[in-house]
Amino acid sequence: MNLNTIVEVKRPRSFEEIEWRDGHAWLAGGTWLFSEPQVATDTLVDLERLGWPALTATPAGLEIAATCRIVELHDFKGPVEWRAVPLFGDCIDAFLMSFKIWNAATVGGNVCMSLPAGAMISLTAALEGVCTLWPRDGKPREVPVVDFVTGNHQNVLQKAELLRSIHLPASALARRYAMRQVSLTHLGRSAALIIATVGDGGADFLLTISAATPRPVHLRFGKTPSAAELREAIDERLPPDAWFQDVHGSAPYKRHVTYYLAEQLRAELA
Ligand SMILES: Cc1cc2nc3c(=O)[nH]c(=O)nc-3n(C[C@H](O)[C@H](O)[C@H](O)COP(=O)(O)OP(=O)(O)OC[C@H]3O[C@@H](n4cnc5c(N)ncnc54)[C@H](O)[C@@H]3O)c2cc1C
Repeated sequence: MNLNTIVEVKRPRSFEEIEWRDGHAWLAGGTWLFSEPQVATDTLVDLERLGWPALTATPAGLEIAATCRIVELHDFKGPVEWRAVPLFGDCIDAFLMSFKIWNAATVGGNVCMSLPAGAMISLTAALEGVCTLWPRDGKPREVPVVDFVTGNHQNVLQKAELLRSIHLPASALARRYAMRQVSLTHLGRSAALIIATVGDGGADFLLTISAATPRPVHLRFGKTPSAAELREAIDERLPPDAWFQDVHGSAPYKRHVTYYLAEQLRAELA
């Protein structure tokens, strides 16, 4: 849609040249920004010309620029020892998308939207991603993705702060994984997106619950838990009022499918 409050689009080539004031908003792919009126915004600051490389693989892991497009992440081929790379495509397929979102939306835009059904949040939280944030004044800071999102459409970003990148450690990329996603309707928004990863020999089992809860939740076990241990840990961490209720599923439904899917993941990886 046309945003008739916008009077200027700035296209800076460096972070330093940006003079921020109230009414500015970062523009990434624009798929959400242009989907509804932005009455408090008069200037868009386009991130594209900052020219960040989309994906940088090193022995330490994968650096995903905030401006990396969904389609670029989908096309990434990692070294064979990064067994979790196919999870990129699995999560991208779980994302309710049009042609426009596929080609224009960015990983950073999805994470900064901080919606429960943000599939890039599910992916990067499950793979133990760490965000690098650039505050307006001050040194860059690092925040794990699982702590970056604090609620439905809420996160730790301060005014004018920019998400620069997300680092996925090689150790997480090398783990075995399993994933399940469920929606109330065919191709609908996720009601639950659950991912488990595990180290060799069943050590260090990590369950990431997302979409069913307002923010991603990690449950970590020294070794693959039993079915009863897993269910007990979910109950302990997530009481009945901790589940996210919306038109894509009631809280009791999301809780129920989370037990069901988490047990499937546990059995698959055991
Ligand atoms: C039909 C439709 C279906 C959708 N389905 C889903 C869905 O299933 N799940 C879901 O999560 N979302 C969904 N969305 C919302 C949105 O399109 C996606 O979240 C998308 O990934 C946003 O990415 P973008 O690059 O287009 O962000 P933009 O629209 O450019 O920006 C989104 C927000 O993040 C801020 N922002 C962007 N990049 C940064 C950055 N690097 N640092 C700080 N702030 C930043 C912007 O200022 C803005 O507030 C949907 C939207 C539409 C129109």
